[in-house]
Amino acid sequence: MTLTPEQVVQQNTSICFLNGEYLPLRDAKVSVLDRGFIFADGIYEVIPAFSGIPFRLEHHLKRLEKNLQSIKISNPYTMVEWHKIFSDIISNNNYLDTDCSLYIQVTRGVAKRDHVFPENSNPTIFVMLNPMPPASLEKLEKGLTVITRQDIRWQYCNIKSISLLGNIMLKQEAAENNADETVLIRDGNVTEGSSSNIFIVKNGVIKTPFKDNKLLPGITRDLIVEIAQKQKIACEETTVTEKELFNADEVWLSSSLKEVSPVCSINEKPVADGKPGKHWRNMYQLFQEYKASLKL
Ligand code: PMP
Repeated sequence: MTLTPEQVVQQNTSICFLNGEYLPLRDAKVSVLDRGFIFADGIYEVIPAFSGIPFRLEHHLKRLEKNLQSIKISNPYTMVEWHKIFSDIISNNNYLDTDCSLYIQVTRGVAKRDHVFPENSNPTIFVMLNPMPPASLEKLEKGLTVITRQDIRWQYCNIKSISLLGNIMLKQEAAENNADETVLIRDGNVTEGSSSNIFIVKNGVIKTPFKDNKLLPGITRDLIVEIAQKQKIACEETTVTEKELFNADEVWLSSSLKEVSPVCSINEKPVADGKPGKHWRNMYQLFQEYKASLKL
């Protein structure tokens, strides 16, 4: 059943945080003059929390800080204050024993519409919680299907901007083609997915595009590279060409919500034998072990 827009808001009684206050999501209101609404002048962050504990919190908060700096908004809170807000949201919503994701958005706030930054606006700070059903291994075993498209986005893809028009148009193409994700190609090289980072494996060597302005520095991507390095698995942060993508033995996507997922078909052609590969299986296992080790 598809909910009407009114039902989406009315039925959502989860507690969110807006500008210093905790309140039900359906009561949270922002001015139409907010620069987030008018210009998409803001950034966001998504943090998974397992059994109530935010995962790789420091990494996410560092990225948030960096993003705020890059669009010249000063960070409204210290790391400790952010952590307190997240803990409050998690406990207020009774998510201490289950998994969820935290969505954080900071905009330049309310001002008279003018492209130039206002001199004295207060940032709008919003945090909400979404349930996060565990990725089932059974579903992962089926593998993801992807399509490729030219990367039409702007030149600062390293900033986690709330202006996601390029990303959503590209993701919509995947949906319209019964695919899970759109893998993006710029100047003959793979950059990332519309909402994920990408890895390929060839002859036992893992490769992922190096970090620059063309892709989001994913927290999950960095963790996979870190795990590979620790385990002495060959892993290169390098250029990945479109041709290498099509000739790969394995292709994976990574994100905070998808963790590390195998891709089994690209543009309706199977990746190798069309089944999740042994290197993915190994990384999936190592990733789960890393998560489990944090709960000790
Ligand atoms: N690239 C893009 C464009 C994304 O939207 C995401 C998910 N937010 C990622 C990569 C993966 O980043 P992370 O591992 O931090 O979720």
